[in-house]
Amino acid sequence: MDRYIKLIDKLYQKHTLSDAEWTSLIASRTPELSEYLFSLARDVRERYYGKDIYVRGLIEFSNYCKNDCLYCGIRRSNRNVHRYRLEEDMILSCCREGYELGFRTFVLQSGEDASYTEDRLANLIRKIRRNFPDCAITLSVGEWERSSYQAFFDAGADRYLLRHETYNDKHYSMLHPASLSAKKRRQCLWELKEIGYQVGTGFMVGAPFQTAQLLSEDMLFLEELNPQMVGIGPFIPHHNTPFKDEAAGTLELTLFLLGCIRLMLPKVLLPSTTALGTIHPKGRELGILSGANVVMPNLSPTEVRKDYLLYDNKICTGDESAQCRRCLEQRMESIGYRIVTARGDSLNI
Ligand code: SF4
Repeated sequence: MDRYIKLIDKLYQKHTLSDAEWTSLIASRTPELSEYLFSLARDVRERYYGKDIYVRGLIEFSNYCKNDCLYCGIRRSNRNVHRYRLEEDMILSCCREGYELGFRTFVLQSGEDASYTEDRLANLIRKIRRNFPDCAITLSVGEWERSSYQAFFDAGADRYLLRHETYNDKHYSMLHPASLSAKKRRQCLWELKEIGYQVGTGFMVGAPFQTAQLLSEDMLFLEELNPQMVGIGPFIPHHNTPFKDEAAGTLELTLFLLGCIRLMLPKVLLPSTTALGTIHPKGRELGILSGANVVMPNLSPTEVRKDYLLYDNKICTGDESAQCRRCLEQRMESIGYRIVTARGDSLNI
């Protein structure tokens, strides 16, 4: 026990662990160690971000995807999905509604949908930028050529979310089709950083075939990339995917890793994800109490939310945006935190 307390203290003070230290800490975690970790993680989080919680308004504007990731409910091979694309006017009206509700960051998310060409997406970004000059625009639209990333940045996008999913090449190939690779994924992340985006990356906790050793590689990659945001959430199987019978990731391990990431990258933005709220009724509150400081409620029109299911039993698919916002406000207040109206830029620069 003492040995692992010392590792957590090292992480708190030096923000780094070796590969072997990560592996043994993750494999040997206990409820007592987790409590100790969380108390330090809250301390660090409050040092930089106080009790403030940043909100991001998520707009899932297309569920078409050319890819076939084995864990994903909207993968190309799933013929049971009702596919949709939101028109530009609809996306702008989601932003307008979000703005009135106090959102100052919009996250545009979609599958890799070829009908959204570089020009079409850049035009949309320009319109949002013109209409909402005080808001941050975050893209979560997958892998593109560097020149497209540059075009989106020049059009006014500020941030880009692209989970690396898993650092390990072999593990990556067990979760993805042969057309995708861990190397290309990481290359995209480095290019996004070079262009000047605030970058978010992350992975699923408890993904099939994941081990403590593989998670250690993920932590080392996060340290190396030093992103502005890290999104992790439990893997949850979707019934129409090859992984439908795999076990879900646990709340316990997800919270432990949130605490670890807060100590390793003290100023990073760390969302308490919807997936966390899906596997436990208080998952998002527990995420905040483990060191997270961001929540991402949905601003998509209610009628399409049930079609954007990356995993089963996703919560909040029937609620209006205003209801989501109020619900989260109450949840955060119940644990002594408050949602703020701000862009919520990362201090990890
Ligand atoms: S995870 Fe992303 S890229 Fe992969 S199939 Fe799903 S939406 Fe497409």
